[in-house]
Amino acid sequence: MSQSARMPVVFLGHGSPTNALEDNQATQTWARIAQSMPRPKAVLMISAHWLTRGTAVTAMERPKTIHDFGRSLPAPLFDCQYPAPGDPALAARVAELLSPMPVGLDQSWGLDHGAWSVLTKMYPEADVPVVQLSLDASLKVEDHYKIGEQLKPLRDEGVLIIGSGNVVHNLRVMDWDPAAQPYDWATSFNDFVREAISDNAPDRLFDYASRGEEAALAVADPDHFWPLFYVLGARDQADRVVFDPDFIQYKSLSMMSIMFDGRETST
Ligand code: ZN
Repeated sequence: MSQSARMPVVFLGHGSPTNALEDNQATQTWARIAQSMPRPKAVLMISAHWLTRGTAVTAMERPKTIHDFGRSLPAPLFDCQYPAPGDPALAARVAELLSPMPVGLDQSWGLDHGAWSVLTKMYPEADVPVVQLSLDASLKVEDHYKIGEQLKPLRDEGVLIIGSGNVVHNLRVMDWDPAAQPYDWATSFNDFVREAISDNAPDRLFDYASRGEEAALAVADPDHFWPLFYVLGARDQADRVVFDPDFIQYKSLSMMSIMFDGRETST
């Protein structure tokens, strides 16, 4: 298949679940990202919110919408439905690509808010099939990256691989004031990640913990950082990299999204 037909691969900083209800800079960019690329045959979604022992893929025909957040959030969020079909054939293909690693064909999960809060902006008609891939919480970041490498052929099969998390994610010290300036450590860690990606140096990111206190604060819960490694693994050397949006909100939540795109630019 020609390089121009290869699907981009994206990491989305999903932020608060309330983005699903809002029309803001991040949600508008997610919609624009979807509009900028060919319509995918299916989405393979790696969300920060599905942690498992071992790796699993959703393999049901009709994944349910999961409202996996606290009752303090606005009531309309609990009414959100994202009725995209599943894609059992893609689930089987993912298991095949990751073989001999065992991959569970899951019938009980569905689409969590890390998936549907962004997909509802990208594909509001919910007419693109979606398969979720879980995060094995026992793996090292290098292992998450290797799984991403094995998934790379899907880019030539019309599948859009999306990692959904946040580069800087520390809810404990967040400040809901929208005008609050980011913590210095949050800006510094965000800059470190952007630079390592721009330099195509994922090994620097494997070693992120060596940044000490800054990394411990920025990656307070690694689940939101891990989806980035799948996307980096599926990256091509020739991909252009676009960071958009690229800002930190609530002092400790990076909304940075990153698209890797091998298609020729239309001028
Ligand atoms: Zn989240």
